[in-house]
Amino acid sequence: MPIATVNPATGETLKTYDALGPEEIEHRLATAEAAFHTHRTTSLAERSTLMHRAADLLDEDAQDIARVMTTEMGKPVKQARAEAAKCAKAMRWYADHAEKLLADEEGDPADAQDSGASRVLVRYRPLGPVLAVMPWNFPLWQVIRFAAPALMAGNVGLLKHASNVPQTALYLEDLFRRAGYPEGCFQTLLIGSGAVEDVLRDPRIKAATLTGSEPAGRAVASVAGDEVKKTVLELGGSDPYVVMPSADVERAAQIAVTARVQNNGQSCIAAKRFIVHTDVFDAFAERFTAGMKALTVGDPLDETTDVGPLSTEQGRGDLEELVDDAVESGATVLCGGERPDGSGWYYPPTVLADITPEMRIHLEEAFGPVATLYRAADLDEALAIANDTPFGLSSNVWTRDETEIDRFVRDLEAGGVYVNGMTASHPSFPFGGVKRSGYGRELSGHGIREFCNITTVWHG
Ligand code: NDP
Repeated sequence: MPIATVNPATGETLKTYDALGPEEIEHRLATAEAAFHTHRTTSLAERSTLMHRAADLLDEDAQDIARVMTTEMGKPVKQARAEAAKCAKAMRWYADHAEKLLADEEGDPADAQDSGASRVLVRYRPLGPVLAVMPWNFPLWQVIRFAAPALMAGNVGLLKHASNVPQTALYLEDLFRRAGYPEGCFQTLLIGSGAVEDVLRDPRIKAATLTGSEPAGRAVASVAGDEVKKTVLELGGSDPYVVMPSADVERAAQIAVTARVQNNGQSCIAAKRFIVHTDVFDAFAERFTAGMKALTVGDPLDETTDVGPLSTEQGRGDLEELVDDAVESGATVLCGGERPDGSGWYYPPTVLADITPEMRIHLEEAFGPVATLYRAADLDEALAIANDTPFGLSSNVWTRDETEIDRFVRDLEAGGVYVNGMTASHPSFPFGGVKRSGYGRELSGHGIREFCNITTVWHG
């Protein structure tokens, strides 16, 4: 894939970039290593000041960087501004909380004595330069979610961003530089995916994090495994959204629309499979389909747009194939399902019912505004459908019945269970999945400790 900004609303190539050559990559790796030696010795207070400054700059830049993101990957500009604001919030959260999250943990004196020590403590020390391989769907957020905790922990970052968001990638490097971070603390590597392996094998890189598809995750984790380097993987999702009879069906249907089409439907934690109890199925299906039909699809730079184009032509083609396969196998189209004529990679909000296990969309991630509807006879069947997926990122359940809530929280195979609401990340709680959705956690105290050397300090 060329490294280029191609406007998804028009298909026009706006800017292309040359990939870095071996000498430029070497220079950046050396700079990262040198920066780490200094950054690791800075105090949490110094790091906090820098992070706050970067957050303030991001707030100032929000309008401009939002337009860049929209032009590069097609998300509605109002959502792009919200993404920038969310990033600034996460940066401040880590700036304010890292000291507490990384404070020494004193061992129990009795346990220390039992080990023959006068005192034992755990200290969280940084690992070194971390490689972040990131996707285009939330081009700021996916990076900040890694960078804010990593930098606060004393690590330094090297970003290999998706090839279709180079301007956002360069903006991020510039943001940290302008905030006052010394050269090398956060760098962007404009490289294709084929160049990742050599960078990851370089001994100066100590760990890697990847958000993206399963094949990309597998490729990076295999190399990292071979090099015995730590990885965190956040891969795809096909989150269930279960609606039970005691739910507020009106509200569940209204939120379901946002949960499915946020970010033009290209979110790993978007609700994708809507599993509805038979008693409320018709009421939910009618309201949900009406909500999907009422969305405004169009130019993502227009403030009134709800759904813009998909980010790449390939992405739209993949989605269309999933829908066509389902329809050929007997799925019922309640709305959408036809690619519009004209330029840009648009795809309409689509609802499919009568999904069967042999359809590809039953097991594969639909990365766009396409929802699948399932009818469940009871809680057990709803759970069985919800868990019948290779993925396990998050999940959503709508019910007012405490016993049902307990069952869902106990049995849903996912890294999150959101009750009577939709999945949304927050800096203070852990984010990540099980099964093919990956491993490790981002955000919260769990996220900042992923790239730490958890050191036992034993005093005789
Ligand atoms: P990819 O996984 O291909 O891209 C994500 C990042 O990984 C990019 O930086 C990409 O670089 C890089 N990459 C890709 N292959 C390799 C490799 N073999 N070794 C090292 N790095 C690699 O996502 P796509 O854009 O192709 O999207 C495909 C599907 O992935 C989507 O339909 C969706 O199902 C899922 N996805 C999930 C996301 C999530 O948030 N969890 C985000 C994006 C996609 P480059 O751009 O240069 O190829």
